[in-house]
Amino acid sequence: MSKLVYSFDEGKTQSKEILGGKGYNLAEMKSLGLPVPDGFTITTTACMNYLNEGEVVTPSLKEEIENAVKDFEERAKKAFNSEDSLLLVSVRSGAKFSMPGMMDTILNLGLNDKNVETLAEKTGDRRFAYDCYRRLLQMFGEVVYKIPMVAFNSYFDRYKEKHNYELDTDIPAEGLEHIVNYFKELYLSEAGKPFPQEPEVQLIESVEAVFKSWNNDRARVYRELNDIPHDIGTGVTVQEMVFGNSGEHSGTGVAFTRNPATGENKLYGEYLINAQGEDVVAGIRTPKEISTLKEKAKDLYDEFVDITKKLEAHYKDMQDIEFTIEDGKLFILQTRNGKRTAKAAVEIATDLVEEGLIKKEEAIMMIEPKSLDQLLHPSFNEKSLESAELITKAGLPASPGAASGKIVFSAEEAKHSAENGEKVILVRPETSPEDIEGMIAAEAIVTTHGGMTSHAAVVARGMGKCCVTGASDLKIDGETRTVTYPGGEIKEGQVISVDGATGKLYLGEVETTANEQSEAFTRLMNWAEEISDMAVRMNAETNDEITAGFDFGAVGIGLVRTEHMFFGEERLVQMRKFIIAETKEERVEALNKILAYQKEDFEKIFRQADDRPVIVRLLDPPLHEFLPQTEKETKEVAETLDITPEFLNRRIRELSEVNPMLGHRGCRLSITYPELTTMQTEAMIEALIKVKDDGIESNLEIMVPLISTFEEFKTLKDVIETRAKELIEASGQTVNYSIGTMIEIPRACFIADKIAKECDFFSFGTNDLTQLTFGFSRDDVGKFIGEYEEKGILENDPFQTIDEAVGELVKMTVEKARSVDPDYKLGVCGELGGDPRSIEFFNEIGMSYVSCSPFRVPGAILASAQSKVKQDV
Ligand code: PEP
Ligand code: MG
Repeated sequence: MSKLVYSFDEGKTQSKEILGGKGYNLAEMKSLGLPVPDGFTITTTACMNYLNEGEVVTPSLKEEIENAVKDFEERAKKAFNSEDSLLLVSVRSGAKFSMPGMMDTILNLGLNDKNVETLAEKTGDRRFAYDCYRRLLQMFGEVVYKIPMVAFNSYFDRYKEKHNYELDTDIPAEGLEHIVNYFKELYLSEAGKPFPQEPEVQLIESVEAVFKSWNNDRARVYRELNDIPHDIGTGVTVQEMVFGNSGEHSGTGVAFTRNPATGENKLYGEYLINAQGEDVVAGIRTPKEISTLKEKAKDLYDEFVDITKKLEAHYKDMQDIEFTIEDGKLFILQTRNGKRTAKAAVEIATDLVEEGLIKKEEAIMMIEPKSLDQLLHPSFNEKSLESAELITKAGLPASPGAASGKIVFSAEEAKHSAENGEKVILVRPETSPEDIEGMIAAEAIVTTHGGMTSHAAVVARGMGKCCVTGASDLKIDGETRTVTYPGGEIKEGQVISVDGATGKLYLGEVETTANEQSEAFTRLMNWAEEISDMAVRMNAETNDEITAGFDFGAVGIGLVRTEHMFFGEERLVQMRKFIIAETKEERVEALNKILAYQKEDFEKIFRQADDRPVIVRLLDPPLHEFLPQTEKETKEVAETLDITPEFLNRRIRELSEVNPMLGHRGCRLSITYPELTTMQTEAMIEALIKVKDDGIESNLEIMVPLISTFEEFKTLKDVIETRAKELIEASGQTVNYSIGTMIEIPRACFIADKIAKECDFFSFGTNDLTQLTFGFSRDDVGKFIGEYEEKGILENDPFQTIDEAVGELVKMTVEKARSVDPDYKLGVCGELGGDPRSIEFFNEIGMSYVSCSPFRVPGAILASAQSKVKQDV
């Protein structure tokens, strides 16, 4: 039977998977000789056994825990209930991946009615003893017996108000004793049972509650958001308490070895004198900046700085460290790689390389590709800011970004309004982990309490969401749904703008501008490009998009969707004429008008792309998508086209399809209307000749969409080649182009070798390939895919991350194509081309490139580099 409990000293031999991050790092810090309070860790395996086997603590686990306590008591020379040397412990969660605040913690465990008196006597501090006891009653009550925290807090606040105590620390010992008595009564009235007096019972019940907290709603939501598996469980650490609340020479704090918002290499953190850990994290009291500790206790500060340096050098990464000072002695309670903004992540990773601590490859692996989005997001336009009306500048810049929206006062409202398509700003005194869904839904989060390490700040930074904390001159009135600020008031639903980079709030909507990339970002991207061996192209049509994509490092254009070029007002008229035409002559007449627009568009694209490859795809969607939907629109369009609404309605009826996704679209359009392909070929080739006249060696790749048979491709290839040859010969120019196809229908995958013999390249349209492999309509999948994921029927949405069966089809196609030509050119231009996990798969099977929307290009380059680093390990 496997061992399920390890002392910190034994833990060195175990992995993070087994002990969870907290237990693992505590064991490691202890082995480094750092001042870590002793304890033991119950493994993640024990947690999963407990959850999977009917939520009972087996006799053998109970025995292992009891033995661990005994050994621990011997080492600590303290014991539960001891009259001489009382042992109190904390019980905390810690999974392999850090999930800050998502699971439960209990402090001061071991206290009861009797030994609280012993503690008071021994420490000579009755106030301290009862403060610990009331905290235990609160935490244990909430976590284990599910007594709502507000029941405790509202009484506590009423008591303070009644006696005119401003701070918690103003309440004297008698007051706390009174509060403790009230809390014990709450157990009877709210939970129907008393607070358990035996420390051993408290411990087992707490361990169970922490195990269960693995599956609470906020932990599940957090795991889904961060792609953390649901079946790895949490470890539980039981650690000797050290007391930051034992007087003015005690305190507790959290520090980051570098600034988690900007990445600046400077110790960054906060502490509170005479307080316990949750006071800092909960953001109820506003803490002091870490550097002020130097003035109060220089030796302690120096010792702490020394430890932070040691830890950073050991873990080769920025650390988030929890510490406590008990009567002038420093203890480290936890260290973990610190959560950071994307900006800070890039700065820190590149600095660590410069400092010689890590290699470029390691720096590449430190950045989450999806997080690069944050760096590419807008900030407020300087000019508009000048004229914006400031609400407050008292807040802290907890997580950068710029966002505007209507204010809402609760997580539920945020979620509800966002579901109705509204942009909202969640304004709260402070956030708690229950608010996670509201935080996800909101554009930005503002709190009136708490510092840079408060829950709101840490969680928002992790999400890359704009956040301002501690805006202390705002008063929130939840009843009247009003926020009062020094210059006025704001009502629910009014729009405000939040600047996460400065901590300032403004009235109304402020204009935003695109973000400038830092030097560190450019350096990191250069390394990623150097390392990556799979190219990244962009899917783009407009000149702005193409400029952005090239700036972000795309090496070409992987998909120009020509249908996106028909939406201008004038071109839509001609397009509609083409669609409703009943004869070939009418169609050709309309197409000739469109030809001029298309040629102009292609010319611009070729000039921008220069000699970089450009894939232009023939028209893809069903034609009735271009026709009016409502009666009113039909009338207007009929008037513009100079036809009767009756005629237009008849054509709409004739063109309408029962299942357009499977209907007259893709290459089928070009086959039934070859004149369409001829026109598009003319536009492309004439543009090619024109830019060649100006010395541009374009690299045009013409792409046929949605083929299922070899003959479809061959038919269109002939149409394209015939017209292209005529034009090129007539021009006397030599221009290059190739003709390839999209692979997006399973049938085409099975005959890929046959097609490859006639075709210059393949590009996988994974949107359609997924749709047609599953038989899921890509437009309706939202109705059920969430539930599929929740019920575990599918692990991921296959339209976002490649599915195994679709992957098999792609792999088989790659093999068939490469059997014809080992260097056959293969790319992906569906949405999966921008998804990091899918990119890893595409790289492994030897794809030549992926193509995605311009703003996803940096993430794709990084993901491609990461997959190369992984392959090389
Ligand atoms: C695809 O199907 O993956 C693709 C890129 O084409 P579209 O999304 O335009 O159908
Ligand atoms: Mg497609």
